[in-house]
Amino acid sequence: MTRPLEGRLALITGASRGIGWAVARAYAAAGADLILLARTSGALEELDDTIQADGGKPSTLVPLDLADVAGIDRLGGAIHERWGKLDILVSNAGVLGMLAPLGHIKPKDWDSLMAVNITANWRLIRSLDTLLRASDAGRAIFVTSGAADKGEAYWGGYATSKAALNALVRAYAAETVTTNLRVNLLSPGPISTGMRAKAFPGEDRETLAKPVDVAPLFVELARKEETRHGQIVRYSRA
Ligand code: NAP
Repeated sequence: MTRPLEGRLALITGASRGIGWAVARAYAAAGADLILLARTSGALEELDDTIQADGGKPSTLVPLDLADVAGIDRLGGAIHERWGKLDILVSNAGVLGMLAPLGHIKPKDWDSLMAVNITANWRLIRSLDTLLRASDAGRAIFVTSGAADKGEAYWGGYATSKAALNALVRAYAAETVTTNLRVNLLSPGPISTGMRAKAFPGEDRETLAKPVDVAPLFVELARKEETRHGQIVRYSRA
């Protein structure tokens, strides 16, 4: 069996459930060493148990709220001390926020949406850039959404955060074009997760792709052989 990520060190945010959970399992099966981040430590421990029951290596668990930007800096420092580099960043954690007319969104809800979906991504870049450049083939994958371009009523908060993420990551790709780093956005499309169920509660979940379906695309983008850079890579079911 080929293990395309054998020995690669990967940080996955939002690993406790949904897409990040499936990516963690796929990366473990592909041989990566994992740093798994989310707020819910019990869910991270269960994931680690599942990975080891499948024959995978123990993961490093980071229970952290990404709104805690000092915590992001501490994480960068800890990775530097222990490994001196990071091969793969999967910046997947995100929140939906309130689906509501813009005038109805409470300022504190707006701020916490932007804190997780945009500011945390910038702070991750700021804390991890040197470590990703220290890898022989650093890979950074940021999870965006088609909502960024749709201009739909009631989706203004979430769409704004993902449009800002696209701008942030494209700028980062432009800054790293001459390095060993490959930086891309991944747009998963509709995937059956808790977030999707919150956005579309009446939907038949059986009609949707599952997190496990999109996970191989994350493996592909993390491989040393990957050449795409500065792109929005869209998942679509065959
Ligand atoms: P999900 O099931 O709600 O999972 C979200 C993950 O993010 C969880 O692991 C959650 O862990 C983590 N997270 C949320 N807030 C956090 C915080 N403050 N600090 C640290 N971790 C936090 O969502 P999903 O559907 O898998 O979404 C994953 C990514 O895909 C998101 O960026 C989302 O915008 C994007 N996306 C999803 C879809 C879809 O249809 N599902 C479509 C387009 C884009 P804790 O709660 O344990 O912290």
